[in-house]
Amino acid sequence: MNNAVFNFFDPGNEEIVHYEPGSEAREELIKEIEKLQSNEIEIPLIINGKEVRTGKTAKVVMPHDHGHVLATYHMATEKEVKMAVDAALKAHEEWSNLSWIIRSSILIKVGELISAKYRHLINAATMLGQSKNAREAEIDAACETIDFLRYNACFASKIYSDQPKSRFDQLNRMEFRAIEGFIFTVSPFNFTAIASNLNMSPVLMGNTTVWKPSTTSLFSNYHLMKIFQEAGLPDGVINFVPGKGSVIGNEVLSHKSFAGIHFTGSNKTFDWIWKKISDNLLTYKSYPRIVGETGGKDFIFVHPSANPIEVAVGIARGAFEYQGQKCSAASRGYIPKSLWKEIKENLLQICSEIKTGDVRDFKNLVNAVIDEPAFDNVMRYIEETKNSTDAKILCGGKGDKSKGYFIEPTVIETTDPHYKTMVEEIFGPVMTIFVYDDKDYEKTLQLCDETSPYGLTGSVFAKDRVAVAHACEKLRYAAGNFYINDKPTGATVGLQPFGGSRASGTNDKAGSDLNLLRWVSPRTLKETFMPATDFRYPFME
Ligand code: NAD
Repeated sequence: MNNAVFNFFDPGNEEIVHYEPGSEAREELIKEIEKLQSNEIEIPLIINGKEVRTGKTAKVVMPHDHGHVLATYHMATEKEVKMAVDAALKAHEEWSNLSWIIRSSILIKVGELISAKYRHLINAATMLGQSKNAREAEIDAACETIDFLRYNACFASKIYSDQPKSRFDQLNRMEFRAIEGFIFTVSPFNFTAIASNLNMSPVLMGNTTVWKPSTTSLFSNYHLMKIFQEAGLPDGVINFVPGKGSVIGNEVLSHKSFAGIHFTGSNKTFDWIWKKISDNLLTYKSYPRIVGETGGKDFIFVHPSANPIEVAVGIARGAFEYQGQKCSAASRGYIPKSLWKEIKENLLQICSEIKTGDVRDFKNLVNAVIDEPAFDNVMRYIEETKNSTDAKILCGGKGDKSKGYFIEPTVIETTDPHYKTMVEEIFGPVMTIFVYDDKDYEKTLQLCDETSPYGLTGSVFAKDRVAVAHACEKLRYAAGNFYINDKPTGATVGLQPFGGSRASGTNDKAGSDLNLLRWVSPRTLKETFMPATDFRYPFME
């Protein structure tokens, strides 16, 4: 029996593979792309470790080449959802009682499989299925997934070793129990790493899940599930249930053992889920944990002391990488009049050099948006702007969905700080700029704070340290991840725990111990060595 007290070390971050021309890694990646695109696969449900086919199917296509089918997937009906819940509940006892060291070692093995054996596969699947270029796929599907897995083992060590004080006459302990029941995990299309982490953080703490993956990221998510299994994840610990959100949501959220939701996605979906939970509250055995990260309207705020080139690069990368489909993507900018001319020239120059197209052509920085509804939604904002008197398009503005869902990186300038595209989440490659009078720096900070309901990410560019301090203070609640002289995207596990408040979610900071703490229900144990033998107290004499 191994009874050593073991702690996982600080792992550091996974090194990024750059896929430069001529490299072996690039060749391997291209081979994987070719293999995946030429073999259409079938994606079943995976319940209690077994493949389940319902015969109710739909197709997975490439967003940048939507005539190309990657897979046919099976959709869950109420019956399979019930099976998944039963499987998660059955697996709970053994999994939650298993040593956390063994649970962690399975996660670390998943990380190692992705790092060494399946890196190019998971990247290629993310490129083809979610239309991410090689770099975007690498920093998400490989690096961030691995970092979440390794860092969480280290964070769990910290949690489990945090114990209350004892005395000579009493021993106090804290047992970090898994939550009683099962956890519903609902993942978005835009990050393979999020899909992994939404499951793996509750699972690490001893919970079991029913996972509803996004239909538009099923290709990479299915491969992920297969890797979890290969790493030795016991049957029933994660149950992979693709299908229609409302069908699955209705069934899961009305179960008495529903114990928590780990969600990332849009406000509309999260609001629906939260309402369902309150409607069903009296059904549940425990008050469920509600953890959800939702939308953003992320800003770049520029002070007159900023460096214009740094700002232009920050906007271009922050707003247009992954087609602006990151919850943290910059989508509104506040720029002082004195710097606008130079920033605009630099920004428009950069935009003229950005290439948009298929992920399989490595020259393209910008690829397709995820599907037709997303394309139509983004284009609606652009078309409205073309007819507006309050805003004009400085570059981009064109879209073409004939082969893939391509939209050019688009910069809008508005004279109205409350113009629609300054307020609403668009989730596409669209950046709107409001130019302010230099003397109105403080006033405009206030405007930035009050313009949108979200509070996810934002950044300030300035050389003046006092101006930075003012921005930090005035925008305290405007962003849960606040950047100084940097773009507001690219949070790294272990370095910048991620999440926002206001309409952006419950701010339970993925990539930190704060998130893991939501997935335990601690029990305090006190043992008294010399129990009292007289009921009277001295004051009674
Ligand atoms: P979405 O809300 O459309 O879908 C998210 C998931 O919810 C999908 O799996 C979907 O099938 C499922 N779903 C939909 N209706 C459901 C229902 N009734 N019951 C149960 N599940 C249901 O979001 P999306 O388009 O996949 O992702 C984009 C959104 O996610 C954006 O708003 C973005 O800002 C947000 N996001 C936020 C963060 C963050 O950390 N704050 C990170 C990534 C994405």
